[in-house]
Amino acid sequence: MPDQRVIVIGAGVGGLVTAVQLAARGLQVQVLERAEAPGGKMREVAVGPHRIDAGPTVFTMRWIFEDIFEQAGARLDEHLELEPLSIIARHAWSEQERLDLHADHERSVEAIGDFAGAAEARGYRAFCERARTIYTTLDPTFIRASRPSLLGLMGRCGLSGLGNLRGIRPYDSLWDMLGTYFKDERLRQLFGRYSTYCGSSPFMAPATLMLIAHVEQEGVWSVVGGMHKVAQALAQLAEGLGVTIEYGREVTQILTRSGGVRGVQLADGEQIAAEALVVNADPAALTSGRLGAEARRALPPLAPERRSLSALTWCLSAETEGFPLARHNVFFGRDYASEFADVFGQGRLPRDGTVYVCAQDRGTDGTGSLNGPERLFLLLNAPPRGDRHDFDAVEIEQCEQRVFSHLEHCGLRVQRDPEQTVMTTPAEFDQRFPATGGALYGQATHGWKASFSRPASRTKIPGLYLAGGSTHPGAGIPMAAMSGRLAAEALLADRRST
Ligand SMILES: Cc1cc2nc3c(=O)[nH]c(=O)nc-3n(C[C@H](O)[C@H](O)[C@H](O)COP(=O)(O)OP(=O)(O)OC[C@H]3O[C@@H](n4cnc5c(N)ncnc54)[C@H](O)[C@@H]3O)c2cc1C
Repeated sequence: MPDQRVIVIGAGVGGLVTAVQLAARGLQVQVLERAEAPGGKMREVAVGPHRIDAGPTVFTMRWIFEDIFEQAGARLDEHLELEPLSIIARHAWSEQERLDLHADHERSVEAIGDFAGAAEARGYRAFCERARTIYTTLDPTFIRASRPSLLGLMGRCGLSGLGNLRGIRPYDSLWDMLGTYFKDERLRQLFGRYSTYCGSSPFMAPATLMLIAHVEQEGVWSVVGGMHKVAQALAQLAEGLGVTIEYGREVTQILTRSGGVRGVQLADGEQIAAEALVVNADPAALTSGRLGAEARRALPPLAPERRSLSALTWCLSAETEGFPLARHNVFFGRDYASEFADVFGQGRLPRDGTVYVCAQDRGTDGTGSLNGPERLFLLLNAPPRGDRHDFDAVEIEQCEQRVFSHLEHCGLRVQRDPEQTVMTTPAEFDQRFPATGGALYGQATHGWKASFSRPASRTKIPGLYLAGGSTHPGAGIPMAAMSGRLAAEALLADRRST
């Protein structure tokens, strides 16, 4: 077996960031990726001649990437062109009820006042203030900490931070907490939706998730050329530092010796030796035995009942009319509780679901209309049961009808052509991201303990580390990147200590 120092399994954001960080510190790194391109969930789909972003579309916390590039001796702006969005998102409940959130805080306050009245605008100000406090308390003490624990969090916060921690009210659900700021159900829905950014229900997620509102307020960017460019830029950076990335290479087994790792076995039977391994696949691949029986003991079992949201998505090229699409658009269903009861409770597609629409060709200021077809990405929350149930043609057809008639109810008519549409179901997500059931964000953040029970960088097997959105600190591109960085730090620290 040829010797490699570190093997990273998966070229998602977390895996690529680990590879960059380790290579920048002089380690020899090889990335093995089963797909044919980097990025994992950050993928694009070909629809006729068009390439459409089919994963993450909202790019936040750009400073994390600036740091990563800088630590690798490069500059983010030399690899990626980012444009700030002035309209964060356009929200609709019907043809008459529309609300934009702006990058400019005062414009959002004004818009909320016009939409729902002065008391709600005051509630929004207070909500933003609380979201900022939560973010600034948790960012240095929890998000950047390698081992999430409540005691550790309290210790790191110090006396002054304990007051802020109490104010965070982790035992309250996000939905209940939002009720103390907003009387208007629609605003509760709008800000409750942030829990879905980590695949969770606002009715079960802790109130701490309101910090995501602060993250968006700090800036949302559009990536020129599409989100997939982020993955390409990271892969290029890694390769520039000497990392080898091999595509179409699936790891089927983690090989161990004397309790520690010794390498991997690939689907074609080849074995490659390594001193250390970083798993960017979902940790459920380990605990389910998909990476071999020996690797099961790396972590305590991950219960399928605690999986986060999956999605049903459509990439299409179509003409639209009637609704002035911004880059990010959210078409809310009327009954938010029933949406999550359907998905998490009944394990079925929502009957009255919220539909997210990314209109990739729209400008960053939310203005302008297009002549001819445009690239669209639609997302509907779905149960993470892709390993147990694949929707049949009738279920899909009924769901599609509900989705597009809901858009029409809000004024958006999409002239869709099945030939110009590519759909992805939870079962397909499960195939792409093994052992997940199609859950896209690891375990759901339900209950106050959930954030502390996410797998951390280190596992029970010496030399085996985790990086990615299903690992601490959580899902989303910046968090997955942060996790990649934590994995590299843990690995380097362990090498130093031995
Ligand atoms: C539809 C959708 C919308 C989203 N929207 C947003 C958004 O707007 N903003 C945001 O910040 N985040 C969003 N996210 C979440 C974000 O995309 C993810 O949290 C992040 O990209 C996860 O990165 P990761 O490091 O966990 O790697 P992943 O993307 O999970 O990639 C893991 C990689 O490992 C590979 N792999 C798995 N098993 C093996 C194996 N055995 N051998 C070799 N390779 C293997 C896979 O092929 C994959 O490439 C969205 C996700 C989805 C799916």
